[in-house]
Amino acid sequence: MSGSPAVVIRLMASAYAVAEKAGAIVRKVLHSGELGIVEKTGANDLQTLADRLAQQSICASLSRRFPKLTIIGEEELPSEEVQEDLIENGQSEEILQKTCPLEYRDLKEEELVVWVDPLDGTKEYTEASRCLHLRAVAQTPHKGLDTSQPHSTALWLLDNVTVLIGIAYGGRAIAGVINQPFYNYQLGVGAQLGRTMWGMLGLGTFGFQLQEVPGDRRIVTTTRSHSNKLVTDCVDAMEPHEVVRVGGAGNKIIQLIEGKASAYVFASPGCKKWDTCAPEAILQAVGGKLTDMHGNAYRYDANVKHMNSAGVLATLRNHEYYISRVPQAVLQALKSD
Ligand code: AMP
Ligand code: MG
Ligand code: MG
Repeated sequence: MSGSPAVVIRLMASAYAVAEKAGAIVRKVLHSGELGIVEKTGANDLQTLADRLAQQSICASLSRRFPKLTIIGEEELPSEEVQEDLIENGQSEEILQKTCPLEYRDLKEEELVVWVDPLDGTKEYTEASRCLHLRAVAQTPHKGLDTSQPHSTALWLLDNVTVLIGIAYGGRAIAGVINQPFYNYQLGVGAQLGRTMWGMLGLGTFGFQLQEVPGDRRIVTTTRSHSNKLVTDCVDAMEPHEVVRVGGAGNKIIQLIEGKASAYVFASPGCKKWDTCAPEAILQAVGGKLTDMHGNAYRYDANVKHMNSAGVLATLRNHEYYISRVPQAVLQALKSD
């Protein structure tokens, strides 16, 4: 390969490092115990200091290196100067060494749209924090958690939390990074926390081992904190053998690609483009599919509406089966754009 790496490879290399920095911010705020919770549209739509700082870090770091990018972040923040210690200048050397898929080699910065969810699973993040009284481990912000304490039953919610950076070109999700800041929390004090998964269409996926649910079992994953009758009726219509209710769109795609669930079914508006862009790119890169409840793809152009109004249905395999089971009432209630 001659010359410097393609723009999209350099962007992914930065996004990887930036997502790790954001993950560290998410851990640090949790350990401080001062979450600074703000209700956005209501009690089930929260923002914390971690959401704010992580988004500032991601957006400022990427736009400094790639000034012509369109970056769309979840949080509405005042446009103030970002503190220098939030800026990440690093790039993943491993990604810089990758060969760019031919079709993306000549993409320009200004043709790319980056969708940022600085903290996906905020509801679960706040619930875990409230239960845990984590101030005791504030001195070791990047080390493992004390899982021996009796109130640690809510710790599993920490794995629902992810940082999502998705890259779109021509309206399609083509690459994405998912950082899971509390991965390995079970290992207790002293463990190194966090992992970063990424993928690009035509290049592959990295940072996890692809697994499928064994046999023909239908394990449906869905929301645990944004449910309603339509959501549960739709899950039931899939005739699942098992239902896994967990938080976060990123986390639910991790359930799919690591063989813990066969379909992510959410028959409701609520999920936004920043929730699905990075996860969709990674899922597609391993042969999976993410659509609305009608089976139509979402678009990720800079000017699209943010809400995924017609719900989310994601699978690794057998997408058509799940689409065929969606009740008429859902199809009528949730119109495709
Ligand atoms: P969940 O599966 O409930 O964790 O939702 C996945 C993503 O969609 C999270 O980022 C949620 O914040 C978002 N989301 C889903 N439903 C709603 C809703 N009714 N209001 C606000 N955000 C929602
Ligand atoms: Mg989210
Ligand atoms: Mg978020």
